[in-house]
Amino acid sequence: MQSSVFHRLFLLLPLAYQHTSNDADHKVTHWNYEYHGTNWGGTCQSGVQQSPIQLAYDKAYTVPLPRIVFKNYDVRLKEPLILENNGHSVHMDIPETQNGNKPYIMGGLLKGRYQAEGFHFHWGSPKSRGSEHSISERRFDVEMHIVHRNVRYDDLKEAVKHDDGIAVLGIMFKIVRNPDRIYPGLNKVFAEMSNVVKYKSESEISGSISVGQLLGDLDTRNFFTYKGSLTTPDCNEAVTWTVFSQVLPIPFGHVAKLWRIRDSSGHSLINNYRSTQPLNGRSVFYRTTIDGTMGK
Ligand SMILES: [Zn+2]
Repeated sequence: MQSSVFHRLFLLLPLAYQHTSNDADHKVTHWNYEYHGTNWGGTCQSGVQQSPIQLAYDKAYTVPLPRIVFKNYDVRLKEPLILENNGHSVHMDIPETQNGNKPYIMGGLLKGRYQAEGFHFHWGSPKSRGSEHSISERRFDVEMHIVHRNVRYDDLKEAVKHDDGIAVLGIMFKIVRNPDRIYPGLNKVFAEMSNVVKYKSESEISGSISVGQLLGDLDTRNFFTYKGSLTTPDCNEAVTWTVFSQVLPIPFGHVAKLWRIRDSSGHSLINNYRSTQPLNGRSVFYRTTIDGTMGK
């Protein structure tokens, strides 16, 4: 198994803090979603630019921002994606593409290039929806995060120390019993989901795939964007969020596979979302192609 930068972000970084600091604020080592983040401590409690937040069309500033530009998102990846259960989510590192580059994004509120590092999901339970952000007081069934690193920093560990270090794309999904659209890339990912039920288990996704295929037919021109944090410990305030307002359909069977995932204690990993955080006077921007309206 390769030890990738993405693993370091979610697994080793909290441990590294424990070894390098006696600061009690950084002793969040074994965390879970039992209280949706209210007991995580450290920056997660003391921060003032935390994520997720409640997004709303009528509270966001509708501004003419550049659209997000996706580079190498349509090029197939050189190596297969490896799906891994890390006890908090299922995630995949994003390898190089077949042209030897990494997929990256620019535009929106971002200054410079942000290289795709990995992606993972947040979900609810058979009784509750599990997106992290809400839009106009609606929570959605699943939220996918594609995590990107500002290329001016060497790795994710360094990038999370800077307020322009990370860019995360958020994509919402809503359960539809008989979706009329099929997303081959996401279908390949979900086909492996039953092989990563156990903590630390991994499964290789067969066939070559591009990161763009994970976006289905998402209209990427309409999005909310704001400055926030990682939604997992240590909740570093390093993230420029771009959350697309279009909600993609997902088959019930896909989401039911997420509900069967187990955490490191062998319990069902359900409702792995952090509760929404106070805005504390931050500006949230909305980019829309819909003329003259608030994009409702
Ligand atoms: Zn996430």
